[in-house]
Amino acid sequence: MIDISNYDENNIFAKILKKKVPSKKIYEDDKVYAFEDINPQAPIHVLIIPKAKFCSFNDFCLKANNETICSVIKSIEKIANTLKLNNGYRIISNIGKEGGQEVPHLHFHLLGGKQLGKIID
Ligand code: 5GP
Repeated sequence: MIDISNYDENNIFAKILKKKVPSKKIYEDDKVYAFEDINPQAPIHVLIIPKAKFCSFNDFCLKANNETICSVIKSIEKIANTLKLNNGYRIISNIGKEGGQEVPHLHFHLLGGKQLGKIID
């Protein structure tokens, strides 16, 4: 169990959701917001976040209802399809300290637009 279960209301993605910090929107529905990563690691690097407050993928799996989990996950495919990533793409969710998570609001990195290398550096 990863100890990042207290949601930090001041995290940068909470501010993006509240429009206190600007972002380049890629997609939005009632449960999900997706925007360009400020420091892209590939030609396409989109961050997909639930609008509800989950600290991490771990927290999400433990606390979200099945309908929310299903629609958030399905939105990833929808966004990849909209971005025409027909040749493939990668989804990453960093979890906790050793997972390299910097922002404590669940996010999926959607990476694509080139041949991607190995996952671990
Ligand atoms: P993590 O390391 O938590 O998995 O990823 C956090 C991601 O958020 C990083 O890829 C970083 O570039 C991105 N990021 C951090 N601050 C901002 C911001 O203010 N705006 C946007 N669009 N992305 C951000």
